[in-house]
Amino acid sequence: MALERTLSIIKPDAVAKNVIGEIYSRFEKAGLKVAAAKMKQLSRAEAEGFYAVHRERPFFKALVDFMISGPVMIQVLEGEGAVLKHRDLMGATNPKEAAAGTIRADFADSIDANAVHGSDAAETAAVEIAYFFPSTDVYVR
Ligand code: UDP
Repeated sequence: MALERTLSIIKPDAVAKNVIGEIYSRFEKAGLKVAAAKMKQLSRAEAEGFYAVHRERPFFKALVDFMISGPVMIQVLEGEGAVLKHRDLMGATNPKEAAAGTIRADFADSIDANAVHGSDAAETAAVEIAYFFPSTDVYVR
């Protein structure tokens, strides 16, 4: 397995539930290290840009509205096979289908308020990390 970085976002619903620490604890127990982090209130333009790939999807406006409904916690996670490891911790997009013990099974209420975002591949991760963090703000752990 390769040492990788992935972009993780704790979405407004999970920030509001005050479970940032619980979620960070799962990352650390799985061997993922926080290499950069910040809390941020996204602007509409930032959220639209981040989810540009979904622009034509019917849920796009609702997704953007949700992502700007409160601050998010954004982090870069680093570790062996970080992209897949993080996706496994997150669980399926729809929390009703998420495996027991995953973040979405435990903290998400619905497919549109589903607690976390995680990059889906190493290539996307590089783009998403650069979207939020200058390279000087990402630390080698
Ligand atoms: N989403 C939604 N309705 C859908 C599908 C997706 O609201 O029917 C939202 C949901 O918040 C999801 C995000 O759009 O996390 C991005 O969708 P994707 O398929 O990339 O899922 P993810 O990679 O987040 O599991």
